[in-house]
Amino acid sequence: MNTNLTKEQALAIFEKARDSRNAYELFHQASEIRDKEIGRRLWWTSGSGGIFPCMITPRCSYCTFCTDKMFPIDVLLKSLERIENLGIQQFHISGGTDLNSGYDDALLEMVHLIQARSGLKLEINLGPSFKKETVLELKKLGVDSITSSLESNSPEVFSLAKPGDSLDRRRELLQFCEDADMPSRSMMLVGLGETDRERIEHLYFLKQYNKLYQLRISRFMPFQGTAFQNKPRCSPWETALVTAMARLILPNTEISLAAGNNLDDIPLWYLAGGGNQLMGVSIAKKKPLPTVDVDVYEISENYYVVDKRKQVERILAGMQLEISNQMPDHKTILKG
Ligand code: SF4
Repeated sequence: MNTNLTKEQALAIFEKARDSRNAYELFHQASEIRDKEIGRRLWWTSGSGGIFPCMITPRCSYCTFCTDKMFPIDVLLKSLERIENLGIQQFHISGGTDLNSGYDDALLEMVHLIQARSGLKLEINLGPSFKKETVLELKKLGVDSITSSLESNSPEVFSLAKPGDSLDRRRELLQFCEDADMPSRSMMLVGLGETDRERIEHLYFLKQYNKLYQLRISRFMPFQGTAFQNKPRCSPWETALVTAMARLILPNTEISLAAGNNLDDIPLWYLAGGGNQLMGVSIAKKKPLPTVDVDVYEISENYYVVDKRKQVERILAGMQLEISNQMPDHKTILKG
């Protein structure tokens, strides 16, 4: 399979695969590239949103998950202890962003506190809340990676979806990671109204970042009470096609599932060349309803560690796929 496609060739493949009879070949080739470049094996991670409050005004047009308060550090440390005892090796610190004052000092302090108590590797997903020097400091501290989610790389689509946010700052953070030799991740939110050409352009834009080890793909979900509540839900076919094209254009980057997808999206994602990380354990601020194969650990009043690994493993077992807690060495899959 040619992974040195021009943008026009990639766009033609994408549009041809809209006819499901042509998609079999695309998915087959994308899966072969994943198997060859990264392998079939999957790995678990853990995380929690809402660790830092979001200062973006107005809120993004699709967001229902931002908070106004810091996550209590004592609860976080206890939760991480439980997560580490479950055998997980990585935790994602996710939350809102602060474009004005930044979260530089607060994050560095949090990383020090966590590292004094926990051996979990940390991934930071707080939007463009940091200066370049902070990225260098996080690298020195051994932080695993930093996420800068562009969601859409089209300025028009971005400004409608994220009117209080800055696409330039998000792009700049990817460059800071590049300059600091820090592994990075990004996210693409499919279904905001972007065209197929803009999707392909977005993937080619990301190709310039040698430190990008993972692209996560979200599937747009409209929520009541948000500015985008009347937009249609994104079809899983769209995310599958974008996953396959991402695999062709970014062959040695992990292409993972992000918010808006659910467990039922896993088989199509994998068939379309997706891999290799799945979220297995998270922190919830509300007790989940009892569910088969989901283990819930109460950490303190209204805070729970939720382990869904058995639920996902059942789906994977039906596909004869294996998953483990063992993290891959990102350096071996990065381009430079
Ligand atoms: S940056 Fe936007 S999507 Fe992220 S938490 Fe803030 S309002 Fe929500």
